[in-house]
Amino acid sequence: MNKVYDVLIIGGGVVGSAIAREMARNKLSIGVLEKNLDVCYETSGRNSGVVHGGFAYDPGTLKAACCVEGNIGFDQLAGELDIPFSRCGKVLVGNTEEDMATLKRTIEQGRVNGARDLRLIDKEELHRLVPAVVGEFAMFSPNSGIVDPFKYTIALAENAVQNGVEYFFDHEVTDIHYNDEEIYEITTTHGVFKTRWVVNSAGLGCGKISEMLGIRGYRVIGSKGDYIILDKRTGPLLPMPVYPVPSNTYMGIHVTNTTDGNVIVGPNAELVTDFTYYGVPQENMDYLAESASELWPCIKKGDYIRNYSGILPKWVDENGVIQDFKIEMREDLAPHAINLVGIESPGLTGAVPIARRVVRMMAEQEELTPNPDFNPRRKGIARFAEASEEEQKRLIEENPDYGELICRCEKVTKAEILQAIHNPLGVHTLVGIKYRTRAMMGRCQGGYCQMRVAEMIEKELGIPKTELQYARKGSYLFTGDVREEV
Ligand SMILES: Cc1cc2nc3c(=O)[nH]c(=O)nc-3n(C[C@H](O)[C@H](O)[C@H](O)COP(=O)(O)OP(=O)(O)OC[C@H]3O[C@@H](n4cnc5c(N)ncnc54)[C@H](O)[C@@H]3O)c2cc1C
Repeated sequence: MNKVYDVLIIGGGVVGSAIAREMARNKLSIGVLEKNLDVCYETSGRNSGVVHGGFAYDPGTLKAACCVEGNIGFDQLAGELDIPFSRCGKVLVGNTEEDMATLKRTIEQGRVNGARDLRLIDKEELHRLVPAVVGEFAMFSPNSGIVDPFKYTIALAENAVQNGVEYFFDHEVTDIHYNDEEIYEITTTHGVFKTRWVVNSAGLGCGKISEMLGIRGYRVIGSKGDYIILDKRTGPLLPMPVYPVPSNTYMGIHVTNTTDGNVIVGPNAELVTDFTYYGVPQENMDYLAESASELWPCIKKGDYIRNYSGILPKWVDENGVIQDFKIEMREDLAPHAINLVGIESPGLTGAVPIARRVVRMMAEQEELTPNPDFNPRRKGIARFAEASEEEQKRLIEENPDYGELICRCEKVTKAEILQAIHNPLGVHTLVGIKYRTRAMMGRCQGGYCQMRVAEMIEKELGIPKTELQYARKGSYLFTGDVREEV
């Protein structure tokens, strides 16, 4: 490819996509190189989905600053991107004197960080807020919230694309070379790309990309967390996330409500070296259920509908001590490169503030011209199931495809699936449709609708079923027809 981009961003997770969108506020040619077939197949789609308050991080750290800034700005961001977000609050539940002392310290730390309205509540108030919880007292954070991590990441990327950013999926970066003309040549699995600036936002791959840039020596370890997803029947019993009292480095196994009415239980924290294994062993599920039941005794095996896991990239020093987010420019080693390392939690909450810092670093080196056409607003796919009866009637009158249910569990219509199939990022995996519409995410997990969605993709995009992939590269589902049509 001969085009020379102004900026190429490596990694299209929530952080890379937020950077792409913030960069697009300026007149720049921007590309995102993403090794997967969609934007949130790694950590950004594998987390608790909590918009944190900002009290859990050491004062003065980037984690604290980005978290508080992200939390404060989330209502505006969710409005602009048309994504599900609820500022439902959150409680950290304690029982002992030691817990009380930790919660008081946490409130003070939050106050220093700028987290708002944190307070201790007694047993009575705790049970008024979350009747099913077990505990003597709690710290209440009214400004914590929950977001749909899939729709959030997709929305950032779609809005970036609306504003001129190009996404290249299935493009794994394998080598980076800075040539004599001060241009980066980035080798990917599908050709070489050229750019004046490069941003490393590769999540779990941050250490490898950093090495390719010549910025060596970062030690990045993985901390894997497993989750159980519970049936929507349990949703009404959990109006806000319930956490135990945290330790210095770990928030503990919690229960979290989701924007769609499910409950998720987890995560544990297991050090891993394999950044590609996402299996959830039975013994871990048993451990999660047992631990979380001490806080919220509503977990029954009959309500399990799925499990999943995510891996945090933690940057540690030589003694294994976890470090702050690193957002750096090393002109001596890699001119015009912005290197992000160890973007673990609260990366979901802090993605836009992280992106603002990246753009500010670039602006310190060269003058950026604002893009007068930048539009921060993007419209998502309207959920038929959430519309009023009157609105549903109107939608069906205008488009009869709203009258045909494809996913019965989540009540997703043909019209919504068609919009998802023709999504602005050009993603056509089955999970791509799932994350955009919630089809296949309900109680039966696609038993009823998965084949129908596959047929719709084949019909709309002309992709034969034998070439259709579930999520990751190579995840083919079908080898051919069992018998010929007659
Ligand atoms: C269990 C768990 C719970 C969490 N809970 C929360 C929470 O409640 N709230 C919160 O704020 N944060 C939470 N987080 C943290 C948050 O999810 C992450 O900080 C955030 O998603 C990081 O986003 P990212 O874009 O940096 O990483 P990713 O989403 O991993 O994106 C990086 C992208 O880079 C791509 N990539 C990697 N290498 C290459 C390469 N060589 N070439 C091309 N592309 C490449 C990957 O495919 C990936 O898509 C949690 C994380 C975990 C694991």
